[in-house]
Amino acid sequence: MGLALKNISYQYKDQGNENKYALQKVSFSMEKGEYVALIGHTGSGKSTLTQHLNGLLRPTSGQYFFDGEDVYGEHFSMKMLRQKVALCFQYPEYQLFEETVLRDIAFGPANMGYGKEESEKKARDAMKLVGLSPELERAAPFALSGGQKRRVALAGILSMEPDYLILDEPVAGLDGAGKEQLFGLLEHLRRENNLGILLVSHDMDDVASYADRVLVMSEGRLVMDGKKEEVFSREEMLREMGLDVPHSVHFYHKLREREYFRENKDGLPMTAEALAQDIAEEWHDSRHDVGTIL
Ligand code: ADP
Repeated sequence: MGLALKNISYQYKDQGNENKYALQKVSFSMEKGEYVALIGHTGSGKSTLTQHLNGLLRPTSGQYFFDGEDVYGEHFSMKMLRQKVALCFQYPEYQLFEETVLRDIAFGPANMGYGKEESEKKARDAMKLVGLSPELERAAPFALSGGQKRRVALAGILSMEPDYLILDEPVAGLDGAGKEQLFGLLEHLRRENNLGILLVSHDMDDVASYADRVLVMSEGRLVMDGKKEEVFSREEMLREMGLDVPHSVHFYHKLREREYFRENKDGLPMTAEALAQDIAEEWHDSRHDVGTIL
């Protein structure tokens, strides 16, 4: 079940070089409720891959199964795929266009064929899900704050009740508080609605804080797929691909080099808080040792 890509290759028609593929034999699968990050240098194929996942692009070769069904089979509904695997582009609020918040959010379900009442009900449910107060139903989207506009745009996607949400740099342009709220909301949606989340991001601190699993693309290939602790332990390989590790991992290695930690910790710290905890424990233990020796 879930999403499963098998050996997906894709070549853009106007890509010039005949041997250049935007995707080369990419295989991976993910399930509902998973929180996966997709990282890679610009041009590595992330956007081409996400467009395959929701059916905007069809591969040059390869297979794709959605809940066990062959997406490129004769009877498969692409419309259903686009609804089930939603794509949230960067700055989605630029696409708000209706006069009121409610109408904007209800647009998706109405477009799917639901009547006005049912569409508005779905829109209200989505507003609740993203924490928009009902008083805003009649507000004009352009009059809202940046963070609120983004919530409206997200509610417009959630009103179509997707199983998977693919987000391309979803916190770009938000301030610290707006960013934290949005990531909190995504985590809530994953937990409560079992939404599968695929986060495309260049911010390794965000990736390490929120995702569980990380996919790494390089030159059209999927070169790593594993738990975030495993992926970020391969700092040298990531750097060769022009990618960073989270600050916490970088500082941890610096401290290891200076022999601050006497032993390797079980797992790499994925956040500043986790690193602070490791440092405090080490400090506590070393003081304890000194005390015993004396
Ligand atoms: P990313 O999202 O990781 O930045 P893309 O999927 O956009 O990577 O691009 C992968 C490769 O495909 C790059 O070499 C890029 O130049 C090429 N590419 C992307 N879009 C097009 C297009 N519309 N036409 C031709 N080549 C493209």
